[in-house]
Amino acid sequence: MEDAIVLYPSPAIGHLISMVELGKFMLTHYPSFCIKILITTPPYNAGSTAPYISRVSATTSSITFHHLPPISLPLNISSIHHETLAFELLRLNNPNVHHAIACISDTCAVRALIVDFFCYPVLSVAAELNVPAHFFFTSGAACLASFFYLNIIHRNTTKSFKDLNANLDIPGLPPIPSTDMPKPTLDRNEKVYEDFLNVSIQLPKSSGIIVNTFESLEPRAIKAITDGHCVLDEPTPPIYCIGPLIANDRSGADDGGTNGCLTWLNLQPSRSVVFLCFGSLGLFSVEQLKEIAVGLERSGQRFLWVVRSPPSKDESKRFLAPPEPDLDVLLPDGFLDRMGDRGLVVKSWAPQVAVLNHGSVGGFVTHCGWNSTLEAVCAGVPMVAWPLYAGQRFNRVVMVEEMNLALPMKESEDGFVRAEEVEKRVWELMNSEEGNSVRMQVLKMKAAAEAAMSEGGSSRVALSKLVESWTQGGILNCIGPVH
Ligand code: UDP
Repeated sequence: MEDAIVLYPSPAIGHLISMVELGKFMLTHYPSFCIKILITTPPYNAGSTAPYISRVSATTSSITFHHLPPISLPLNISSIHHETLAFELLRLNNPNVHHAIACISDTCAVRALIVDFFCYPVLSVAAELNVPAHFFFTSGAACLASFFYLNIIHRNTTKSFKDLNANLDIPGLPPIPSTDMPKPTLDRNEKVYEDFLNVSIQLPKSSGIIVNTFESLEPRAIKAITDGHCVLDEPTPPIYCIGPLIANDRSGADDGGTNGCLTWLNLQPSRSVVFLCFGSLGLFSVEQLKEIAVGLERSGQRFLWVVRSPPSKDESKRFLAPPEPDLDVLLPDGFLDRMGDRGLVVKSWAPQVAVLNHGSVGGFVTHCGWNSTLEAVCAGVPMVAWPLYAGQRFNRVVMVEEMNLALPMKESEDGFVRAEEVEKRVWELMNSEEGNSVRMQVLKMKAAAEAAMSEGGSSRVALSKLVESWTQGGILNCIGPVH
């Protein structure tokens, strides 16, 4: 019987990619495992996952994707948060996951279940099946420290983060303004806050937590967690920093269309282009898009900008993929003609990893998603941090104040960013002392990331400890057939 590791990602592309990369990394060093990945297809926009899944299926035979039956969400779910839908969907998925693991165990010995934090309700399924369950934390250790600590903060105050008006003192982190905590946790009266609190409570109950980071990137946060400073009254589970795990396809091929951007980049001078891309879900209003355009024009820098249609005003379409953008309507009059060859605007999606690794790219304006951050680090590209949703404001604080990997984009109270700010930050990134300091630090972390992933490096050692944890005196724990 083959030894199987079952991975259960959350459906959003950013979460899916790093989980799949974890599977690939395991296979590289433990080729006798087979990796089974449970795929949930959400009834809302989760980014372009299909091209990625088919590419992995075609190239890695030891990874099999198990598509779980579709789930419809109850019609009464209304929320402003994408995360609410994800938690609900994954909660309803429990019987499907139980069935899938039972089927896999007919032909394989299931050694472990590795789950995204969004899938926390599945811990009860793992307990029923008597299989060790680990979390795979798709963000960094600083974010993990804040997730652990949420339960402690919750007990110490009755106020919501949005009303607290204070800096939070979380072990291992710089002071975090309470309003920079992950967006769905800002209001404790919302249902989604309860889910995040449950995650905070469940994290210590797992068999261990795998984090997509590496030791030299976040030494303070990792130490604070492993020293047990982020959890009260119970032990902290083993932490395995096994990263950076990022998609490594640098060809850009078959990525929903390359939009011609790699060809265009080939014609630009070395390190001259600023890339602007805002994750799988980042959307701006028309006014904000026009303001970015003006800022880019005035900055005098070359740029490659991924533009999407603004969010729909129709409530029923809020969580669906936006339509193709109409650039003539969204951008200022004559903008594209004036920019000529100085800038390229691509619609909806760019092959980000390939772009970041292109020699013509010298800077990245990012929404601070964790994958994007790691991808920029691995490509040695300095960043401007412009957070939009989820835990990205939190990430900005850490990227700017703790890691020195990014310059901050500063917004006004209502979240709007003026053209002057775009112009200033983009120019600074490419031309100033501050930009240079960030560039040097990113290059240092790029080298550290390579070291962590090579023979004897911290991430490789963490992987072997994880695999050892599945063995007791040389005998692997597993579940056999459960039918
Ligand atoms: N991505 C991409 N092209 C785009 C937008 C996003 O390839 O136009 C990829 C990006 O490389 C990253 C993922 O989508 O791997 C986004 O993950 P991240 O954690 O940065 O942000 P999220 O989408 O989860 O907010």
